Amino acid sequence: MKPIEYQEEAKRTMNFDLTHNEQLSMLAMGLSGESGEVTDYLKKVVYHDHPYSGKKLCDELGDVMWYLSNLAYINGIDLEIVMEENIKKLKKRYPEGFSVEASLLRADTPISSSVVENKDKVHLMTPLLRRLWYLLSDPIRFLFTGEVAVLEKEPNEEE
Ligand SMILES: [Mg+2]
Repeated sequence: MKPIEYQEEAKRTMNFDLTHNEQLSMLAMGLSGESGEVTDYLKKVVYHDHPYSGKKLCDELGDVMWYLSNLAYINGIDLEIVMEENIKKLKKRYPEGFSVEASLLRADTPISSSVVENKDKVHLMTPLLRRLWYLLSDPIRFLFTGEVAVLEKEPNEEE
């Protein structure tokens, strides 16, 4: 099934009697709720020894997809564009696949791409900019990894 075909089928069961703002909030809440169901299911598998079922996971991912598809639709966004733009962003952010360094660098964002074009150039940043970069990226790293960055000095960097 192509993305546009899915989007057409998914909108068949959308409640268009709601106002636009009601549709927006219902779809956003549903997307969050169904994402939570994916998380809750996997929590039970990982921590409560429930049996893993690919079918159950697929069902829940499908529920996420329905809300996502309709949220895109009511905003005039083709699902295919959502997919293409996401892949474009990820190719910019991770040109050589995932790495922690590329994740922190976020080369697809305007500020980082204007400062550095790829991960090799990160070492060209001034010491002050490097400190600022680590300071700003640290809360995000801490949130996802629980680790606090230790900024190592460049060999030629003075106190
Ligand atoms: Mg569900």
